[in-house]
Amino acid sequence: MARCAGAIGATARALKCSARPVARTASVAVASTSASPLSHLARPAVPLATRTLSSRAFSTTVNRSGGVAAPRRPDFKKLDADDVAFFRSVLSSPSSLITTIESPDGSWSAATSEDLIAYNLDWMDKYKGNSPIVLKPKTTGEVSKIIAYCYKKRIAVVPQGGNTGLVGGGVPVYDELVLNTEGMNQIRDFDDVSGILTTDAGCILEVLSNYLQPKGYMMPLDLGAKGSCHIGGNVSTNAGGLRLLRYGSLHGSVLGIEAVLPDEHGTVISVNMPGGGGAGALRKDNTGYDLKQLFIGAEGTLGVVTGVSILTPRLPSAVNVAVLSVPDFESVQTVFKEARAQLGEILSAFEFWDQEGLDLVLAHTGAKSPFESEPEGGRAFYVLIETSGSNKDHDDEKLGGLLEKLLEDGIIADGTLAQDETQALGLWSLRESLPEAAGKLGKVLKFDVSVPLSRYYELVEEARERFDKMGLVADGSIKTTVGYGHIGDSNLHINIVAKEYNEKTESAVEPWIYEAVAKRNGSISAEHGLGLMKANHVHYSKTEPAIALMQQIRRLFDPRGILNPGKYLPPVEHLPEEGQEKIK
Ligand SMILES: Cc1cc2nc3c(=O)[nH]c(=O)nc-3n(C[C@H](O)[C@H](O)[C@H](O)COP(=O)(O)OP(=O)(O)OC[C@H]3O[C@@H](n4cnc5c(N)ncnc54)[C@H](O)[C@@H]3O)c2cc1C
Repeated sequence: MARCAGAIGATARALKCSARPVARTASVAVASTSASPLSHLARPAVPLATRTLSSRAFSTTVNRSGGVAAPRRPDFKKLDADDVAFFRSVLSSPSSLITTIESPDGSWSAATSEDLIAYNLDWMDKYKGNSPIVLKPKTTGEVSKIIAYCYKKRIAVVPQGGNTGLVGGGVPVYDELVLNTEGMNQIRDFDDVSGILTTDAGCILEVLSNYLQPKGYMMPLDLGAKGSCHIGGNVSTNAGGLRLLRYGSLHGSVLGIEAVLPDEHGTVISVNMPGGGGAGALRKDNTGYDLKQLFIGAEGTLGVVTGVSILTPRLPSAVNVAVLSVPDFESVQTVFKEARAQLGEILSAFEFWDQEGLDLVLAHTGAKSPFESEPEGGRAFYVLIETSGSNKDHDDEKLGGLLEKLLEDGIIADGTLAQDETQALGLWSLRESLPEAAGKLGKVLKFDVSVPLSRYYELVEEARERFDKMGLVADGSIKTTVGYGHIGDSNLHINIVAKEYNEKTESAVEPWIYEAVAKRNGSISAEHGLGLMKANHVHYSKTEPAIALMQQIRRLFDPRGILNPGKYLPPVEHLPEEGQEKIK
């Protein structure tokens, strides 16, 4: 690994980075065989599937703070053996149904609640529901029959993908039925001229990336949860991630959506999906309201997304990765400004983390610091710059020029430039290991916000001061507060690592943090969404008329409010239907 100012000072000559694209896939972990001092940081995908579920404490209450759930609606049907019998009749495979409900006649064997924990409990162990049924349909037709039945019977449903969401949206609050898309995992079509990929909603993001890579394409989004999250979940949360700076949001790259609506027919709506009727997946189609946009970021409140058509970019043939250390946050902004100016179109990621973040990752992984010198005063800020392009010499020259200028201007205190793909992965893992490292230290209160860059880091500083003053650091309630994020998108992740989830700590954070963000004209959810956590806080970022309009749209799609009740928006009264009282 070329290290510090020496290596970076050698400018373009030192830029012997991988000429091959850096594919941060599941095989990343293999990189740990390399002798690179950073390589053992390489992080596997989110280990959801391998979590030792039985060893965890499940004392978490349903109504976590920030996500104070409305009471269970009394009109929702309690699931029973008749429902199980129906679902068994429409599913093509018996393994598509897991239930704790006993069979009256021995037709099926009941699972234990432990078997359902992975579907009832979220990634942070923060939100836990008690669904007795998990369904994993394999086709859109099966989803349609399930949803039509749930509509008629008033069964509340939680659509679920990889269950990596961080706002309590993908798990039940009470006993809602879980409709998980993992059985819908077929790639439907790939057009290698246009780069348009059409796929089932349950395909895992990383599987799609691996499928595209040998064809010379890549997914336009990438995130730490790629090994578990589903493309349907990504679309439903409008996931941002590490490539948004370069490839834009899913509102731009998703070209078509297929979804099942919560009505009496389980209507399948296809908007710009190849073979779905009407215009296919096109970049340009100005015929009416762009309905697919409504499903992007709807968090399962308007329908169950069953298929997605997405525009995939070409895999770059040259990738460079550098991690730089700078003395203060002002310098982070200077580096970003210079990077945009000098790297232009090849700048593909600009990530940031603070000293607490680096310390946490090094402690968690046992790795050595990638920098040779200790930061002055023991503190520094870190940025990761990635370039992706098609002409290595051209990219090397540009990055070399940038680093030289930053060195000459005295902006960079230290730096490391990857010399090959393994090292690039190692540098990326410094950033990508952060959520997992925080989770190892304690219970994480995660906040994902957008704040104008000029006021970005003061939020972290204000949080630390506040917790200090309240005595929460001294008494061990809060172990550390870490700031990191996608600087290129003004997206800050504040992770407050607490000893445990409890009222005292959580009330110190919420709603203060939302007020602090609103005061800075930021958004209380940059990319993780609203879920249960922020449903009642949306007013910090949206006006009353906007919220009212969103509630009307939701009711139009889901008149009985069976999809993800109590999440996403403040609850509304459901219009009385025949023989029904008003339902809150
Ligand atoms: C380590 C880690 C790193 C992460 N990094 C990022 C990041 O960089 N950027 C980012 O944006 N997010 C990030 N996340 C959050 C999370 O991974 C994303 O929100 C992801 O898009 C969720 O996908 P999923 O399949 O796991 O959805 P789930 O968690 O299962 O569900 C999320 C929401 O979408 C709904 N939903 C899921 N599937 C469907 C469907 N088919 N139809 C309708 N509704 C559906 C659910 O009801 C729920 O409301 C990270 C999470 C972890 C654990």
